[in-house]
Amino acid sequence: MVYDDYELMPELRQVADPVCPDDGAVLSVGASGLCRSDWHAWKGHDPVPLPQIPGHELAGTVVQVGRDVKDWQVGDRVTVPFVCGCGTCEYCLAGNAQVCPNQTQPGFTGPGSFAELVAIRAADLNLVALPEAVSFVAAASLGCRFATAFRAVTVHGRLKAGDWLAVHGCGGVGLSAVMIASVLGGRVIAVDISAAALDLAAKLGAEHVIDASKDTDLAATITEVTKGGARISIDALGSPTTAVNSVRCLRRRGRHLQVGLLLGSQSRPPIPMDLVISRELEIYGSHGMPACDYPPMLALIADQRLRPELLVTREITLDEAPASLAALDQESATGGIAVITSF
Ligand SMILES: [Zn+2]
Ligand SMILES: [Zn+2]
Repeated sequence: MVYDDYELMPELRQVADPVCPDDGAVLSVGASGLCRSDWHAWKGHDPVPLPQIPGHELAGTVVQVGRDVKDWQVGDRVTVPFVCGCGTCEYCLAGNAQVCPNQTQPGFTGPGSFAELVAIRAADLNLVALPEAVSFVAAASLGCRFATAFRAVTVHGRLKAGDWLAVHGCGGVGLSAVMIASVLGGRVIAVDISAAALDLAAKLGAEHVIDASKDTDLAATITEVTKGGARISIDALGSPTTAVNSVRCLRRRGRHLQVGLLLGSQSRPPIPMDLVISRELEIYGSHGMPACDYPPMLALIADQRLRPELLVTREITLDEAPASLAALDQESATGGIAVITSF
């Protein structure tokens, strides 16, 4: 599935097979999630080389490996993070490929996974083995949203059983955070303006839900419910309002996690730095999860303790993908995940 220009309807067409990099691998795509980031790129909000094949939330089978690859063979079932590191810089070597300055992203810096085949660079760094118990659909639904939420909650948030976590915005990332924190013993407050999203959050384990369209002082409500403020709070939507609410609802020494993207005119929220100082708050940005951090998360999924596939509301064919991508024009950020399962 290719688009030749921004906002021009994508079409299915035959293209040349990807060339396998010496340090990389070519995968036969088994499933690929459809994400709002693909839509942002197609709309031109986030410039990409044209023409472009979208798709960055993928799982599949290795069909070719480059001559320098040591750890992978044809037939291996794998997934990849949406940020692929170069494998040689100081950040990649330190286990932080998610901020690699020479990163590649399928579907953004090069052809992605809305295709039968996709090439991945630096396979030894970026490929993640899938346990037999984890399906391609579940792995594709980890995508950027579930994996990013997992790392935000566990690495930046350092969530412990009994900690209060506030989740502002219950789309894919927010609902993932609700599920993950609940399974790890956190007490979750979910905030959204959609009753359907809040219902889903409650089903996934949120102890308390707040309709932000009816609450004029969210920080005060959350402070009251938690008797002093949330230990950890996530802006999972990405807007000046949710970012500020997230910081203001924290208890002393609490941690704000910025996961929702803040693009363009939204990119400078008026964060109350006076509170950051007087309450000694910590503020983290979160940009995906490196391949080396996947195994503990995959073990929880293989055990059925975490069930990302519950967030998948639609399985579609590649033929249906152009219309589904364009339909994100009308859809809000709230809702489940669509996964392409037939190529
Ligand atoms: Zn690197
Ligand atoms: Zn994504």
